[in-house]
Amino acid sequence: MSALLEVRNLARSFGGIRAVDGVSLTVEGGEIVGIIGPNGSGKSTFFNLVAGVLPPDGGSVRFAGHDVTGWRPHRIARLGLGRTFQIPTPFLKMTVRQNLLVAGMAQPQGRSAKELARAAGHWLEFLRLAHLADEPAENLSGGQMKLLELGRVLMISPRLILLDEVAAGVNPVLAREIAGYIRTLNGQGITFLVIEHDMDLIQDLCSRVIVMDRGQKIAEGDFDAVKANPQVVAAYLGS
Ligand code: ADP
Ligand code: MG
Repeated sequence: MSALLEVRNLARSFGGIRAVDGVSLTVEGGEIVGIIGPNGSGKSTFFNLVAGVLPPDGGSVRFAGHDVTGWRPHRIARLGLGRTFQIPTPFLKMTVRQNLLVAGMAQPQGRSAKELARAAGHWLEFLRLAHLADEPAENLSGGQMKLLELGRVLMISPRLILLDEVAAGVNPVLAREIAGYIRTLNGQGITFLVIEHDMDLIQDLCSRVIVMDRGQKIAEGDFDAVKANPQVVAAYLGS
């Protein structure tokens, strides 16, 4: 069986900056893999390239048996690849429930209004947002916005979710809660690639950690090995 996600030599520059500089990695179905690295090391850009938000300058992305390199985001999402944005992007004037419904309408195709409504209700309960279902998204706290962002991704019935700092800037109680959701969802078969600065959370959740620095993958392995890697220590001290 081939890996769920296979990235080979992915690259993207902005002007003279090699934001992502030849990154290769593989994620097997069922894993929770962490991506860490100093600010500006290319983590979010890497997610944008994998999810089709940005076209790569080079390299390839294979997801669920398809070469999705250069595909538009909605088409990749339809295969079951979802991502959250570091800065949540809900429709502020719509209610929480409407935001979920809109996210679910994009894909997969052929779901009836009734099925969408049921899925939205399910994820609102799961994320403990049900009491806010009819609030405009703009009334949500920062932490609740992060939950809504996760809920919107869940509406596409994802096989793989790319989480970009979903627990950053939220209070520690909610961060633990989010970690719990990730673990539960993983138990239900969803694979995760997780960018996070909270090392306790990474250590807690991830079987494997990838370290980026200046656009490159500089280390990969279990958390303790990676933490003790001199190149990783230097990257963090240098930032
Ligand atoms: P990280 O998520 O690890 O903090 P980013 O992927 O956001 O890093 O950024 C990597 C580098 O690419 C940074 O130097 C950043 O300024 C640059 N960058 C990211 N997105 C853009 C963009 N749309 N235009 C120009 N430069 C960008
Ligand atoms: Mg980032």
